Amino acid sequence: MSTATTLPEPTASKRPQLAHLTAVLDDLRAKGTFFRLRVLDDQQAPVCHYDGREVINLASNNYLGLCNHPKLIEAALEATRTLGVGSGAVRTIAGTMKIHMELEEKIAAFKGVEACVVFQSGFTANAGTVSSILGKEDFILSDELNHASIIDGARLSRAKIKVFRHKDVAHAEELLKEVQNEPGRKLIITDGVFSMDGDIGPIPALCDLADKYGAIMMVDDAHASGVLGRNGRGSVSHFGCTDRVDIQVGTLSKAIGALGGYVCGSRDLIDYLYHRARPFLFSTSHPPSVAATCMAAFDLLEAEPERIDRLWANAKYFQDQLRSAGFNIGGITTPATETPITPIIIGDGRATMDFSRALFDQGLMATGIAFPTVAEGKGRIRCIMTSEHTKPQIDKALEILTATAKKTGVGLA
Ligand code: PMP
Repeated sequence: MSTATTLPEPTASKRPQLAHLTAVLDDLRAKGTFFRLRVLDDQQAPVCHYDGREVINLASNNYLGLCNHPKLIEAALEATRTLGVGSGAVRTIAGTMKIHMELEEKIAAFKGVEACVVFQSGFTANAGTVSSILGKEDFILSDELNHASIIDGARLSRAKIKVFRHKDVAHAEELLKEVQNEPGRKLIITDGVFSMDGDIGPIPALCDLADKYGAIMMVDDAHASGVLGRNGRGSVSHFGCTDRVDIQVGTLSKAIGALGGYVCGSRDLIDYLYHRARPFLFSTSHPPSVAATCMAAFDLLEAEPERIDRLWANAKYFQDQLRSAGFNIGGITTPATETPITPIIIGDGRATMDFSRALFDQGLMATGIAFPTVAEGKGRIRCIMTSEHTKPQIDKALEILTATAKKTGVGLA
C-alpha cells in the first residue's frame, strides 16, 4: 500500500492537469512572443528603472504625470491617516464611505451629468455595465476594435453581438437595419479613443444613428479622460455630445493616475447599476486613499490645464519627428493616431517583441504589443507621451528608436 510518505509529492509543474497551459506557453516561446513581466523598481516617471536598468519610459498611461504628484500623494496619506486603509465591505453592504460619494459627485459635476458610480477598475465598469443593462433578447452594435472589457461584458450579457467594421458608421447602420424590427433593445458602443491605434471614435455620427434607431449610446472614454475635451472632460464633451450619450465610461487609472473606473449618466442608470452591476454588488470598494487621490486629480485638471497642453505638444513633436524619420506610425494598413497614443507598426509578433527588447537594451522602455492584444500580423511598439517628458528625453528616445530601427531593419515604413 502506498502512502503519502512513500510517494514523491508531485510538484505543481509536474502535474499533468495543467499540461495544456504549458503547451500554450511553449507555442508562444516558439513564436517569440512569450514575455516576462518587466518590473518597475521605483516610480512611474519619464525616466525610471525597470529590471534594474535606467530607461526613458514611453510605456505607461500616466498621461499627465499624476501617478506620483505630491498633491495626490498627500491626499492619499491624509485619507489613510483619518479613514484607514480599507472600506471593509462591498458598497451595497457596508462599504460605501462618504468619500466614495464625494468622488462620484465630483466626477458627475465635472462631466456635466446627473450621476456617476465608481467601479474598482475601468474593466469592471465596462464589463459590469454592458452585462447588466441588456439581456438575451437585445442587440449590441460594437466597433471591431473596442476594448476587451466591452467584448467580455457583451458576451456576459448574452445579447446578440453585431460587430461593425472599425469606425464604419455605414456598416453599423446596415447591421442596425437588419435588426430594427426585432423587439430587443439596441446598444451602440464605441471607444472614445482606441487604445492600440490612438484614433478617435466617430461619436457624433454614431449619436445620429442612435437617435434615428432609438438605440442606447455608450462611449468608453478610458484614454480620453484627462486627455481630450475642455480640461480633459473626454471625447463626448470634445464633440459636444454630452446630452446624446446615455452612458459614459472613464477610467481613474490612466490620466487620473490612480485606480478605478466610472460610469456617468442619468440618476436612474446609476441607481440601476447599484442594484444590478455584479462587480459593484460583489466586490469590495476602493480604499479611501484611492478616492481621495482621484478627487485631488480632478482638482488638478481644473487648476492646471497646461498639463494637457504640454501632453499634446509633446505628442505632436514626437509624432512629427517619427514620421519624418520614416517610421510607420499608422495610417497605412492601420488607423492613423489622433492622440498621444503612438503605435510604431511592425507587423510580425516575433519582430515586434525582438524590437522592443532591443530598445530596452538601449535604455528605452516601449512595450511590444502582439497577438492576442492586437490582431495577428498587426504587432506594434506602443509609445505614449506624457506631459512630463522633456525635449531632451524625447530626442534621446527618438535617437534610440532610429538607431535600433536602422540596425534591426524593422519599424521604418
Ligand atoms: N477601456 C480601454 C479602452 C482601455 O484601454 C482600458 C485599459 N487597458 C480599459 C478600458 C480598462 O481600464 P482599467 O485599466 O482602469 O481597468
